[in-house]
Amino acid sequence: MKTIFEKSNGVDGIGVCDEEIKIEGIIPKSLLREGKIGLPQLSELEVLRHYKELSDRNFCIEKGFYPLGSCTMKYNPKVNELLASLEGFANLHPLQEEEDSQGALELMYNLQEKLKYITGMDAVTLQPAAGAHGELTGMMIIKKYFEVRGETNRTKVIIPDSAHGTNPASAKMCGFDIVEVKSNERGQVDLEALKSLLDENVAAIMMTNPNTLGIFEEKVLEISKLMHDNGSLLYYDGANFNAVMGWTNPALMGFDVVHLNLHKTFATPHGGGGPGAGPVGVVASLKDYLPAPVIEFDGNKYYRNYNIKHSIGKVRSFYGNFGVLVRAYAYILMMGNNLKLASADAVLNANYIKEKLKGIYDLPYDEPCMHEFVLSGEKQHAEGVSTLGIAKRLMDDNIHPPTVYFPLIVHEAIMIEPTESESKEVLDNFINIMLKIAEEIKTNPEEVLKAPQKTPVKRVDETQAARHPNLAFPL
Ligand SMILES: *Cc1c(COP(=O)(O)O)cnc(C)c1O
Repeated sequence: MKTIFEKSNGVDGIGVCDEEIKIEGIIPKSLLREGKIGLPQLSELEVLRHYKELSDRNFCIEKGFYPLGSCTMKYNPKVNELLASLEGFANLHPLQEEEDSQGALELMYNLQEKLKYITGMDAVTLQPAAGAHGELTGMMIIKKYFEVRGETNRTKVIIPDSAHGTNPASAKMCGFDIVEVKSNERGQVDLEALKSLLDENVAAIMMTNPNTLGIFEEKVLEISKLMHDNGSLLYYDGANFNAVMGWTNPALMGFDVVHLNLHKTFATPHGGGGPGAGPVGVVASLKDYLPAPVIEFDGNKYYRNYNIKHSIGKVRSFYGNFGVLVRAYAYILMMGNNLKLASADAVLNANYIKEKLKGIYDLPYDEPCMHEFVLSGEKQHAEGVSTLGIAKRLMDDNIHPPTVYFPLIVHEAIMIEPTESESKEVLDNFINIMLKIAEEIKTNPEEVLKAPQKTPVKRVDETQAARHPNLAFPL
């Protein structure tokens, strides 16, 4: 497919101004462009066709099964879009006076309350714009908490070897030193290894539960007692909350800070880089450290409270990605107690696929899984096709590849998360295709290595794309 620059045919798509604008004396010479700007010139219809063609080449949940582990590609109900585009929400200026924006403030307040209920936390900020941003916010809160207490010796953060890469990155950005704790043979934090790491310099542990192997950390209460007895705090990475809703919560497990990904669990569209929302909840003792403002209600009106004693400051302009908040709130209201059912179905679907595929593909941790599970393609790798080849082959059957090569502790990892949205027919079709690919690898691996053949873009040079990305069209 040609780029829009190559399609450019000199047609004026849109007339901005008939008269030449005199800029002499207004803009300093040093700031003026020397050559032509080189924008593509096409009619409006041709531009439209170009972008339609591009969007048709893209894969999305509306086109097919999308079992991308750790990403929760569930159905995003279209009514959420309708509500987020209501004029009063979509066109509201963030600097609008409080008395003119009571509806939006009420929505944010109510969403904070719902998320408090779902997580068991005592206070929530909606500001962070993504999961990793929520982690950073949470770690900044923990850092400031220890600073205010004069415990600046607490410089270490413990993170399991199964963790999402953003966890160590966020803690490190906050200035903490990362200490890794090993997982045991059941894919859970090794308690003895954890004990050996504890001292007066440990600020916190960052955990995901269920962890990135899709396994519930059964020792979580013992871990939280160990940490609290050590004077340390517990951070809960709740990006993947899809197994947990209504069944338990991070407060019951003993956590002090939690972030959620509203994109992912609470059905707002994602993939391709945003916008998202990563609200952070904290226990009462950390309430005074939240970013300002928090939305509050005085019994009469909703207002922005900037008066937060030890606030870490602002982490995002205005109040976060408001459109995402509207969608998530709509989803939570629509689902109500059925959120609990959604989690149950997500867990059931993952276990169903796991049981049908284990044996044909290796299952390194043969445990009941939560919303997702991790296979290993080692056997297939030995037969001549690596996990990457399996992922590419799935695309020819209109299935988005699962997450591959993550978590890092599983060789040739294939991480599958079906979500609750899919019917048994879709799951069975996926299972059959995975079994067929395993068979093809045995009989004809060369053919599998040619995939994908039916997609608009065939096999790309991944190394070249990662090491030498060429993102600009040479003008
Ligand atoms: C997705 C994810 C994150 C990061 O979320 P972003 O919104 O992409 O920043 C963090 N932790 C886990 C476990 C995740 O799955």
